[in-house]
Amino acid sequence: GIPCVTISDQELANRIKSQGAELGFSLVGITAAARPETLEYFQDWLQQGYQGEMNYLKRREDAYADQTGVMHGVCSIVVVAMNYGPGRPAIPGHGRVAAYAQGTADYHDLMRTRLKKLAAVIRESRPESHSRVTVDTAPLLERDLAKRAGLGWFGKNTMLINKHAGSYFFLGGILTDTPLPPDPPHFSSHCGTCTRCLDACPTDAFVGPHVLDARKCIAYLTIELRGEPIPRELRAGVQDWIFGCDVCQQVCPWNRKATPALEPQLQPIQATHRSALEFLELDEQTFRSELGKTPLSRPGAANMARNAAIVLGNSKQSEAVPALSRTLNHSDPVVRATVAWALGEIGTAAARVSLMERLSVELDESVREEIQAALAELSGKLGT
Ligand code: SF4
Ligand code: SF4
Repeated sequence: GIPCVTISDQELANRIKSQGAELGFSLVGITAAARPETLEYFQDWLQQGYQGEMNYLKRREDAYADQTGVMHGVCSIVVVAMNYGPGRPAIPGHGRVAAYAQGTADYHDLMRTRLKKLAAVIRESRPESHSRVTVDTAPLLERDLAKRAGLGWFGKNTMLINKHAGSYFFLGGILTDTPLPPDPPHFSSHCGTCTRCLDACPTDAFVGPHVLDARKCIAYLTIELRGEPIPRELRAGVQDWIFGCDVCQQVCPWNRKATPALEPQLQPIQATHRSALEFLELDEQTFRSELGKTPLSRPGAANMARNAAIVLGNSKQSEAVPALSRTLNHSDPVVRATVAWALGEIGTAAARVSLMERLSVELDESVREEIQAALAELSGKLGT
């Protein structure tokens, strides 16, 4: 065969970085595989139960300590960031979708494809080596790795922040058994005395700086909490967020000059730009064909209808009453219960008629309770 020209570890590292930039990664860094420095914080966080229904985190708790469980023989980790921000401007009363989810692509697929191309750069000069690409799904503390690879610091909003790229980015990695020279860790932090993110959070989800109670976070409530109602006391705080939330990133000064998304697949598209009213009544088939490949498919059509009902209830638009009344017949009891709440919030006479009609045929006990609570709310508003 042709003898391969060996290049030094440093040359290979440089090549990975320049290729990474060409593949659309705004940041590329390298760190050595090692026990995460912030593992104890993560374990404390789990201990407090802040992960809510995201049971997979707790279930794999021990796996986060040792990256060789993710890839046997891992020696170095290449960490990359791809910018998705800043998203389209909000339209009042329309319903907002988090910036990362406004495009066509599922970012897992997009990142994985690009990471495989980057891993090929390693294989070309180290044919004997093995690599594994990861985006989100493996038990790795990605932010810990990113900080160690020099990509940025942990903001008080728990996001990884870079002075130039901001925080609107996805993180991904390549685990490899090839030794690569590590970059210096990002030791400094640049939040200073700022507390904007903590002050701006609509549901008061921060226990303190750097500690997020995911159970209260809108991103968790609208995406991860599926098949159950959003707790009553948190519904008003969801405001007009129909999927995810960007508030603690929008207010961060480091995002003012953040690198914008360059990737065509991450640019906002019309299909994700539906109003809350449209999401409320979007049928399963249209949802799947138009949004099946976007991150919105994670909660799915029924949970998006539930979220839409929250947004409409919060917006108090009486024009939404006919559509909400129709949706009182939805097959999913969680949707019916949330719609009942929304009708109570809007509080017109027509809303009351629809709630009474539904109550006369509703069999699900939890939905009946929501309808009764909405009617009680209404009699306060309308007078009985
Ligand atoms: Fe609060 Fe929104 Fe940030 Fe969640 S994403 S912590 S709800 S500001
Ligand atoms: Fe840090 Fe302020 Fe940004 Fe929060 S808003 S992450 S405190 S710089």
